[in-house]
Amino acid sequence: MTSPDVLVVGGGPGGSAAAYWLARAGRSVMLVEKKEYPREKTCGDGLTPRSIRQLIDMGFDFDVPEFHRVRGLRAYSGELMMELDWPDHPVYPNWGGVIRRADLDLQVALLAERQGVIVRAHTSAVPILDRGRIAAVELTSRGEMETIHPKVVVVADGSLSRFGRSLGTARDKRLPYGLAARAYFSSPMSTDGYLESQLDLRDEAGASVPGYGWVFPLGDGVVNLGVGAMSTFHRWKEMNTNDLMSAMVVSAPDHWEMSEETRLSDNRGGKLPMSLSIGPVFGRNWLLVGDAAGAVNPFNGEGIDYAYETGRIAARHIGAALDADDLSLLGVYKDELDATYDLYFRVARAFVRLIGRPGTMRLLTRTGLRNRSLMEWTMRVMANLLRPDEKGVAEHAYDAIERIIRIGPNP
Ligand SMILES: Cc1cc2nc3c(=O)[nH]c(=O)nc-3n(C[C@H](O)[C@H](O)[C@H](O)COP(=O)(O)OP(=O)(O)OC[C@H]3O[C@@H](n4cnc5c(N)ncnc54)[C@H](O)[C@@H]3O)c2cc1C
Repeated sequence: MTSPDVLVVGGGPGGSAAAYWLARAGRSVMLVEKKEYPREKTCGDGLTPRSIRQLIDMGFDFDVPEFHRVRGLRAYSGELMMELDWPDHPVYPNWGGVIRRADLDLQVALLAERQGVIVRAHTSAVPILDRGRIAAVELTSRGEMETIHPKVVVVADGSLSRFGRSLGTARDKRLPYGLAARAYFSSPMSTDGYLESQLDLRDEAGASVPGYGWVFPLGDGVVNLGVGAMSTFHRWKEMNTNDLMSAMVVSAPDHWEMSEETRLSDNRGGKLPMSLSIGPVFGRNWLLVGDAAGAVNPFNGEGIDYAYETGRIAARHIGAALDADDLSLLGVYKDELDATYDLYFRVARAFVRLIGRPGTMRLLTRTGLRNRSLMEWTMRVMANLLRPDEKGVAEHAYDAIERIIRIGPNP
């Protein structure tokens, strides 16, 4: 198969999910990944129930030893602490997980391959354009070059998205984004059953940072420790994620027995493009999915699930457009993204603007951690786990946040 119906560029969650669902619907699909599997990806390795839902639907085997199941979230703000189990929900399971991305992404690429996808690792793709259309794609693997002519291309090349940028995509600079970093540490608590987050994150000057620190247990003697911060932070220009990481190691609760001596890897960081801030998300014969579209949830920095979901939605619209032999139908993809995520991401953006104000994050988390029902509701909003009958609640939250923002000074 030299020219498949669909070429998927990038073998992370977005690309593998798009390829999986396209092949399952009977399409000829090639997926190219520029690195060799298993490939490392800088990540917190944390999966919420939304990710688990997508993995269940693709037939992921959760019994592999690399997967560690978690039942909820343990939130800290200073000395205040609350454990919150994932809620019961008609669509999403009430459990999550932690797994190194090298293992997760290899397994999901294999699931796609089992559906008939031609998976080519160590192969990078560059588009050849003709009046905004991808006329061909040049593939390079170990010095060998080949040109193919897919009908449609799924752009799933991650947050830097060089392939996407050469199609003319750009991030909307008015919208907030995140920066995050992580490292691995050994810990006797690695079999803990909760994702842990430190909501009172401070920079070296003691300023409260909008974002959070985390410790996610991998179940095999190792934990993933990291920090994520939002560009709405009033000291953003001076912020240094390495300094935040050092502070996080020192302030992590004693039960992790964390120190520089237990460190197993260097800090590695990356950008989190959020709330579908990159566009256009479709062109004449291509679609963006996952980080390439900036699909990360601003509330919690979660991007794996949104990559799976946007990949799956993209696959459906590509199938419909190919069936109808009418690629103008690819534009319906954007309509579905808007209908599914727009209101939620607007609420999230209002929230991250609010917490960018000095002291607000600390005030909110310390209030929240004294009130269990408020905190449970907040967790369900932030992890996008509201039940369908509660969706109106997000609109009320949006109105409330908007009112607060209008009243106060805008940083
Ligand atoms: C520090 C940090 C912590 C995070 N923690 C979490 C977390 O705990 N949970 C969560 O849900 N999300 C987390 N995220 C976000 C998450 O990692 C991303 O949202 C997710 O990986 C997006 O998936 P993707 O498939 O869009 O892109 P990626 O996973 O980046 O995959 C893109 C792939 O494309 C390949 N590629 C690039 N260019 C080409 C090319 N030209 N040809 C062929 N292949 C190419 C790359 O090698 C890469 O494998 C975190 C991010 C960071 C930076």
